[in-house]
Amino acid sequence: MAESTEKMRPKQTPKVYFTDFRTHTDQPITVKLQRLIKKAGIGDIDMDGKFVAIKMHFGELGNLAFLRPNYAKAVADVVKELGGKPFLTDCNTLYPGSRKNALDHLYCAEVNGFNYMTTGCEVIIADGLRGTDDVEVPVKNGTIFDTALIGRAIMDADVFISLTHFKGHESTGFGGTLKNIGMGCGSRGGKMLQHNDGKPHVDPDLCRTCKRCAKECGSDAISYESGKAVIDQDICKGCGRCIGACAFDAISNDNEGAFEILGQKIAEYTQAVCYGRPCFHISLITDVSPNCDCHSENDAPILPDIGMLASFDPVALDQACVDLCQKADPVRNSQLGDNLADPDKPHTGDHFYDSNPNTRWKQTLEHGEAIGLGTREYELVVMK
Ligand code: SF4
Ligand code: SF4
Repeated sequence: MAESTEKMRPKQTPKVYFTDFRTHTDQPITVKLQRLIKKAGIGDIDMDGKFVAIKMHFGELGNLAFLRPNYAKAVADVVKELGGKPFLTDCNTLYPGSRKNALDHLYCAEVNGFNYMTTGCEVIIADGLRGTDDVEVPVKNGTIFDTALIGRAIMDADVFISLTHFKGHESTGFGGTLKNIGMGCGSRGGKMLQHNDGKPHVDPDLCRTCKRCAKECGSDAISYESGKAVIDQDICKGCGRCIGACAFDAISNDNEGAFEILGQKIAEYTQAVCYGRPCFHISLITDVSPNCDCHSENDAPILPDIGMLASFDPVALDQACVDLCQKADPVRNSQLGDNLADPDKPHTGDHFYDSNPNTRWKQTLEHGEAIGLGTREYELVVMK
């Protein structure tokens, strides 16, 4: 039986390994990434002859901020060196888009450059053709869920690796490791259960009738009355994409606590995926777009490229990433820069909140810590 995450997690303060994107002519960034994950201890996991799921996001068609396939190949090659059988994986989306079923999802992954030739391993959509192939997995210490619905191929794997693009997010403040795992590994049913606490509404006084929100809503929940947007609460799935789409802050969530609950649910789904088996987590802070890679576009980065991080502890990894981001200077010509130049917007010094003021992110990590998923304390080990 595979060694458990509990056993593999260091008893003392977890280490998070970090390196920036500086390099020399003789060392590609992908080689530097391989050095980083080896230094962080990926070789301690017994992968010999085992199926190794590498969970990532292949990017919605039109988005260019997602991680390049070259990074996936770098990680997959290390897995193969260690004797493992890697595959790249993600689950289908809740909303219609270019990744809503396995065929469209595989096409999208191929168009965005993820195939055997570029990455050295296959792409498997973990929850099957229609997003219904899931496994009901216990949530250890869960306070919201007893079980979670996770894509079957992810749970069938012996070893789980998350490879995360760290960026902003219109619902969760930032999209990091817990978001990649918790929401990303949920089947369509699992995503529904995580999203069902908050549905947004439109303030007609703020709506400028631009009609951009309906283009973002894959569920056809938005219509227009006298030019103003109206959300059909019965059709809306609570995904939050329209909130990020509205440039005039006309859309917000009815339930003030909904994003906090969403973050806690994401932590519990991450627990379901990771508990009781060997896991390893990698996060790259690059192309820090204000919103999720699920959007069919990506606005200019709100922060500069910062670096690559790896850890056995997913909570510590997200905390380290957000701490590094908070120290960075905002990009002036970006959503965050625009908000900071606007005297009517909040200026808290928290770059993710100032970029997407509706969002909450701390509760996700606090809840992850409370249920034993990991710890927000960490030791940062810097690799040159
Ligand atoms: S995106 Fe915002 S301003 Fe534009 S129609 Fe929708 S709610 Fe109104
Ligand atoms: S939250 Fe917005 S984008 Fe998502 S389903 Fe509801 S109306 Fe559509």
